[in-house]
Amino acid sequence: MLNKVKKALGKSQSRQTKPMQATVLTREQHNISRKDMSENALKVLYRLNNKGYKAYLVGGCVRDMLLGLKPKDFDVVTDATPEQVKELFRNCRVIGRRFRLAHVMFGREVIEVATFRGHHTNEGKPESSAPKGKSDKDDKANLSAHSEHGQILRDNTFGTIEEDAERRDFDVNAMYYDIADFSIHDFAGGIEAINNKTISLIGDPETRYREDPVRMIRAVRFAAKLGMDISSESADIIPSLASLLGNIPAARMFEEVNKLFLSGNALKTFHLLLEYKLFEPLFPQLVPLLQDKSSREFRLLEQLFINTDSRINNDLRVTPAYLYAALLWYPLETRAEQLVVEGGMNKHDAFLLATNDVLTAQIKRIMIPKRFSIVMREIWQLQLRLPKRFGRRAYQQLEVPRFRAGYDFLLLRANIEGGDLAELADWWTEFQQATPDNKKAMLATLQKSEGGYKRRRRPRKKSAS
Ligand code: ATP
Ligand code: MG
Repeated sequence: MLNKVKKALGKSQSRQTKPMQATVLTREQHNISRKDMSENALKVLYRLNNKGYKAYLVGGCVRDMLLGLKPKDFDVVTDATPEQVKELFRNCRVIGRRFRLAHVMFGREVIEVATFRGHHTNEGKPESSAPKGKSDKDDKANLSAHSEHGQILRDNTFGTIEEDAERRDFDVNAMYYDIADFSIHDFAGGIEAINNKTISLIGDPETRYREDPVRMIRAVRFAAKLGMDISSESADIIPSLASLLGNIPAARMFEEVNKLFLSGNALKTFHLLLEYKLFEPLFPQLVPLLQDKSSREFRLLEQLFINTDSRINNDLRVTPAYLYAALLWYPLETRAEQLVVEGGMNKHDAFLLATNDVLTAQIKRIMIPKRFSIVMREIWQLQLRLPKRFGRRAYQQLEVPRFRAGYDFLLLRANIEGGDLAELADWWTEFQQATPDNKKAMLATLQKSEGGYKRRRRPRKKSAS
């Protein structure tokens, strides 16, 4: 059905001079049905529309429905200001500073309602293009701001749908579904991009990446998720701008990186991130360890992502804590060894200090919330504790709250490293399944084979002088 549509206007169109024009697909020309939409999103669209505002679904949900995929969420865009949206819905709150918008809450589902974004300067913008009810007061509040690198710091200038489309990142993300007549407005050749399986940034790639460097990792994420290529114009420049990701607030990076690795396409995404030099600014501590693709460090990450994808695609739970614990395991081991050799510390103290060092370095780039870093520490600690099984210890380990995650990670390490680790992992697998009598027998055998539990003296710490 999409093939019927005539070519959309090209991306070469100048952003500054001519306003963008949409190719319109009537209801008969596309395959998106209201049956595939969230009922709550439809409620929001209808209410806005009935009150005389424009109301569209936009972005990822339109793209995904055209591709026959199930959208993750449904984003609404309108010419009503966030405050006007709030007046229409009791269950609504206005959020955001960098990007002010309205959230309409329906139990656990949140429908995000954004107001059309405009250009950053008001030059050449006709008065009539502003949303209804826009006042001087709004003008002052809706300032925009850029950093010295061209990065957008605040983006609260409201505008028209055409301007809004220009501000979106990729051609496939600038399609709008109009609730008034069920048509799709394709502003940047999104339909053509879907047919060609190639995504492109809207506008000049360098400017758009500088405005928001996160668009570079979004390019990779969409390419992996949609099975598309990034056009050479949008792709070639990425490695030279990759370091700009270092300017993104670490808290925002946490959300973006979760989307990269916890959406079911982590392995593909990982390879693309490496190809475009985007992995380095995210995980600088891993870079020296990933030079050789056949190294255990590289293979562990690949296996981690294979396992994560398979869990997600089978609707199993995944936690960022496990992901980050696994990602940073070898930097932690390397740092701990360094502290033993260079700092003369005992293994245990070195491990604890290395844990802090590795986390402190990582959260400069990606702010891992405490609730996850606490669990990461527990998973790491278990790697030290699981080899210790004599006496009551083996039973105690089973009761530790993160035993499962710690054991899963041991399995992953064993899978990569083999040897003693594989034996240890097999032992724990068997021990968990064993009857109480068999558990006892396993421990007795262990005691025999390893010569019993002897309290070993800790090596004395070298004195500082
Ligand atoms: P997903 O399937 O991951 O939800 P999405 O395209 O819906 O993909 P969102 O992060 O939900 O991604 O963003 C919704 C829409 O907002 C995008 O489709 C795009 O139009 C716009 N958008 C989001 N982030 C940016 C950005 N950094 N720069 C420009 N436009 C953006
Ligand atoms: Mg989305």
